[in-house]
Amino acid sequence: MSNPLHIALIERNVWPVAEKPSDRSKIPVPPHVLKYHFVTPMPEEYQEDFDSARDEWMKYAYLEFSETEDPSVSDILITCKDKGGPSSDVGKQQYGPTEMEFGPSNGYNKRAFLHEFGHALGFHHEHQRPGRESSGI
Ligand SMILES: [Zn+2]
Repeated sequence: MSNPLHIALIERNVWPVAEKPSDRSKIPVPPHVLKYHFVTPMPEEYQEDFDSARDEWMKYAYLEFSETEDPSVSDILITCKDKGGPSSDVGKQQYGPTEMEFGPSNGYNKRAFLHEFGHALGFHHEHQRPGRESSGI
């Protein structure tokens, strides 16, 4: 996992996002809601950091996250493992939900939660951005 700030949005696999109303006279468009489901529960001691990372993204992206108990309506499936590290599909998947995983190898902390939410929203690592000069990373 690289620095969470080194992440770039490439315009594919993007979720539908409502346009943020700039004119208060217009009827506001509600933000798109992404539903997530825990396939395996988040360890209780990390829930606060997870919620904080989720809420951080809601400040900057005009969307909301909502936990669901029903995996069949879930946009994002989250698996919490007892080994390995974090990973995530990048953005909206063509077939089925986007999958995120967390594990104890640098996976259960706010930095990892922020980073993987970025991937789930459609951000790639900055060094993978097309057109970028050769990577110095
Ligand atoms: Zn990553």
